[in-house]
Order: sequence, then structure tokens, then C-alpha cells
Amino acid sequence: MADPALYDTYNRAPLRFERGEGVWLTTESGERYMDFAAGIAVNSLGHAHPHLVAALKDQADKLWHLSNLYDIPGQEQLARRLAEATFADKVFFTNSGAEALECAIKTARRYQYVNGHPERFHIITFEGAFHGRTLATIAAGGQPKYLEGFGPKVEGFDQVPFDDLDALKAAITDATAAILIEPIQGEGGVRLVSKEFLRTLRQLCDENGLLLILDEVQSGVGRTGKLFAHEWAGITPDIMAVAKGIGGGFPLGACLATEEAASGMKAGTHGTTYGGNPLAMAVGNAVLDVVLADDFLEQVRDVALVFRQGLESLKDRFPDIIDEIRGEGLMLGIRTKVPNTELLMAMRGEHLLGVPAGDNVIRLLPPLVTTAEEAREGLARIERAAEALGEAALKKSA
Ligand SMILES: *Cc1c(COP(=O)(O)O)cnc(C)c1O
Repeated sequence: MADPALYDTYNRAPLRFERGEGVWLTTESGERYMDFAAGIAVNSLGHAHPHLVAALKDQADKLWHLSNLYDIPGQEQLARRLAEATFADKVFFTNSGAEALECAIKTARRYQYVNGHPERFHIITFEGAFHGRTLATIAAGGQPKYLEGFGPKVEGFDQVPFDDLDALKAAITDATAAILIEPIQGEGGVRLVSKEFLRTLRQLCDENGLLLILDEVQSGVGRTGKLFAHEWAGITPDIMAVAKGIGGGFPLGACLATEEAASGMKAGTHGTTYGGNPLAMAVGNAVLDVVLADDFLEQVRDVALVFRQGLESLKDRFPDIIDEIRGEGLMLGIRTKVPNTELLMAMRGEHLLGVPAGDNVIRLLPPLVTTAEEAREGLARIERAAEALGEAALKKSA
């Protein structure tokens, strides 16, 4: 049990980890677990990656914090590299995903404002979305369970059903500033937005003077086998929120935008104390060193294929337990026929960690450095977990 001095906001698993290396975590008592939760897609390069550790230690000896009153060379370097690798011209650094989304939302509203449309501040979002836990991002996500009891919902977020083009078109009004979407809903249950739908969104935004904001906090930085998930659809957004994997475990987020979309964000319009601090920049640059290296993403796609095929054959072997395999790259979901927590607990019994998600799904988000051999080891553990569940069900019915 966690100490009662802590807020009771989490139902924590009774596991106390002390160390990690690659895909492995070790508890205080020396038990080893395979970590296919990866801090919810945060530990993109696994635990204690030597290049990240060295970058952080090296920076720790020099400078920790400066504030954004001064030039920070690491920021300039990371911003340039992100701009070079993506659609973006401009980058604002934050400490978290929600802050990256706040910046994205403010950037979109401000764009409409400086272009003579102060009335356009509404942002269209999708059912099942998750964009963070600040007051604005719970309004954007629109999930009643996160809004309840926190006062009036922040104005200006209009939600439409997932994958419903007619509802989307009907929701666009003279007050609409932007459309905000996760290319793959993470917490919503690893729900993939089709390439066609993303292309249609791009077209609708262009036709109506709207900005397309992508939330790639979970799907970005190599997770799907491309640097960003929207690349699979061959489109680009105007604004994009990034976090989680970009810091590899160090708190780091970023809001990326085209020059035009960011045109309203002049000196004094936005700010942050810690965002872009030298420690975060050192680690962010180190993550990019690895992820942008030749063949890295190809290797992610190769391992993802092994993992995906293995999961599909487990689905065929355990049709009473596994309903569907979803996702892209190493952002995968098992939709279960039993309550997802049952299979998740059985997996934990086999010392394999995953993450529950909406729509009765288990998210598997292995570190991007997972080898094919480790993927097969993970699959063997899921298989044993499913066998254990099947045997338990037999006993119950006997
Ligand atoms: C995790 C997540 C966020 C929020 O990020 P925090 O760092 O927890 O604020 C926003 N959007 C998506 C898609 C996420 O997965």
C-alpha cells in the first residue's frame, strides 16, 4: 500500500521497482519484470539507456536551470532538429503532454485572433480522446469521468463521435478554430484513425480556414515505426503536441507548429519556467541521436511485425479470451473478451507489464529498443497468461 500521505488519486499495483535496464525492471526484492508498459510510452529507449544516462550526467555537472530569459543552446539545437525532421518551423518546449496541448490550443486560438477572427475559438475533438488533465485538456477530452466535480467545463470544445464524418462536418461553424485529434487514440483503446479520415480532416481544415492539431504525445517519436504516426497517412498538421517518448523518461514536451500557425505567438503571449531547461534539452537531444540514427525506425518496424504476428496467432489460439489485435508499430492493443484487467493480472503473474485502456483493451507499448527475441519472450508470457486464464475458467465451470 502506498503511504497515506499521498493523494489517493491512483490505484497503484503493489510492485516496488528499484532498477531498470532496457526492457527489464527489477523490484526491491530482486524479481524481474518485462516492461511493456514503458511508463506509458515514456521510456522509449527502455530503462537506463547508456547514451541518455551519459547525456543527463554530463549536463548535470554543467547547468541545471536558466529560465527562458536567456538563450539556451540545447533548445535551439533540439528545435532545429525537430523542425528539420518534421513539417514544423517553430517549437515551444514544455514539461508535459498536457502543457504541450495547452500551447497547441492557445496557438490555434491566437492564430484565428490575429487573423481577424476572435470569434473562432472553438476546437472540435473526438469521443474517446485523451489530451491530459488540466482544466482545458479535460474539456478537450470531454470524458465525463475526468470532468465531474471540477466546476464548469472550459468553453470552446465541441466533441463529435469517433470516425463520423457527417457529424464532424455538421460541427464546423463560423466559431471553429481548429480540429484536434490523436492519430491513434491511446487511452481510448488503441483506436486507429484511418488514413482516409486523416486526409479528409486535412482537406476540411484547408477548405474552412481551420488548423489541424495532432496530439502525438503517445503515438510520436518512433512509436508506430515512423517518427510521427501521421506520416503513415502522408499528411501534415499545422500544430502538433509531443511529449512522453521525446524525453525517454525525463519530463519533456513540445508544441510544434508551422510558421503561419504560430504567427500569433509573439513575445509575452505564452511562457513557462521549466520548459526547455538544459537538463531536458540534453536528454531530448540524446533521444533524437538514437531515434534518428540510420535504420532505427526500420528496426522498430521489423520487431513490431514479429510482435504483431505473434499476437494475431495468440488471438487465433485463444478466441474466448482475445477479441482483436489493434494498433500500429509498437503501439499495440489487445481487445479482450474477458475483462481486460483479468488478462492484465494474469500477465503480471507472468512478470509482464502492460497498461489498461478504454474499450476493454490492454495496451502494449514496449520500449522501441526491444529486440525480436525479447518480443518473442513477451509473447510467450502472454501465452502462459492466457493459458492460466483459460484453465481458471474451466475450473470455474466444472
Ligand atoms: C499522456 C497523454 C497526454 C497527457 O500528457 P501528460 O504528460 O500526462 O500531461 C496527452 N495526450 C495523449 C495522447 C497522451 O497519451
